[in-house]
Amino acid sequence: MKVALVGIGKIALDQHVPALAASPDWDLAATVSRHGTVAGVEAFTGIEDMLAARPDVQVVSLCLPPVPRFAAAAAALRAGRHVMLEKPPGASLSEVHELQAIARDMGVTLYATWHSRAAHAVAAARRWLADRRIDEGRITWREDVRKWHPGQDWIFEAGGMGVFDPGINALSILTHILPRPVHLKSAELDFPANRDAPIAARLSMTQGISADFDFRQQGPQTWDMEFATDAGRLALRMGGNLLEIDGQPAGGEDTIMGEYPALYAQMARLVADGASDVDLSPMVLVADAFTLGRRRTVEAFDF
Ligand code: NAP
Repeated sequence: MKVALVGIGKIALDQHVPALAASPDWDLAATVSRHGTVAGVEAFTGIEDMLAARPDVQVVSLCLPPVPRFAAAAAALRAGRHVMLEKPPGASLSEVHELQAIARDMGVTLYATWHSRAAHAVAAARRWLADRRIDEGRITWREDVRKWHPGQDWIFEAGGMGVFDPGINALSILTHILPRPVHLKSAELDFPANRDAPIAARLSMTQGISADFDFRQQGPQTWDMEFATDAGRLALRMGGNLLEIDGQPAGGEDTIMGEYPALYAQMARLVADGASDVDLSPMVLVADAFTLGRRRTVEAFDF
């Protein structure tokens, strides 16, 4: 299938382009970006121009930040193209509901991807937890925003989600592996004095689960989740890639290179089946944290 990539920035170049190049199912036929390009691929600066010029492009994969995402997604769906969304699927829940309605009306596929769910140890963790009772869970997602999102000012603008940009990856794993649904009880959000999105957040959820998200981590970076159950302890480390059971290594692989090929394979299946896949449960937890969370103002932040 011919696919166009929209928003040629860090994730498009780091993950989408190599995943597409390695797959016999996909042909990267066009890009849409104001500045970014991919060598040897026809480049457009506006989505409407691409949609008009390239009716042969069946799938549009959006790697934009969340705020500009809706307009591009709606344009592609209305032009009858199947659409794949980077996480988070939008800047608000209501706009993603609208995208779902447009996709239904047009009879095309909408896939809201959660790349962390394709991490190496997530499926095994889900199987292990399936018949256990969670007594307590602790998520620690602490990374250095200057290292992973250098100069990405959009992340601290309203709708950029701040520390929930990585934190929602943890919540996407959590909502996928828990045998029962979880909901938010309370939250505390730290907003830098000069920014409109939080730099750190602490969440308290049902089933004894807490989360500590922080963008100010220096030294070792941590993307861990640990659960105590009625029949042993499970830990997922390195963003869902390594599994530990009762403190012992139990599988996985410390690389994220398998995640995006898995997402494109799932997109190919969805298009073939005429289906969509839009699970908003991670984003509901984030929205609830903004709704229920107490706000603290902390030191100003600059890249
Ligand atoms: P990025 O490096 O800033 O790239 C996004 C691209 O979108 C920009 O290069 C820009 O390209 C285009 N764009 C269009 N409108 C924009 C606007 N109003 N503000 C900023 N850029 C705009 O961001 P990214 O890290 O690739 O992240 C994009 C999405 O992927 C986010 O939703 C993020 O959560 C997700 N993601 C990122 C990572 C990661 O490790 N970075 C991992 C997984 C998922 P032009 O200027 O050429 O138009």
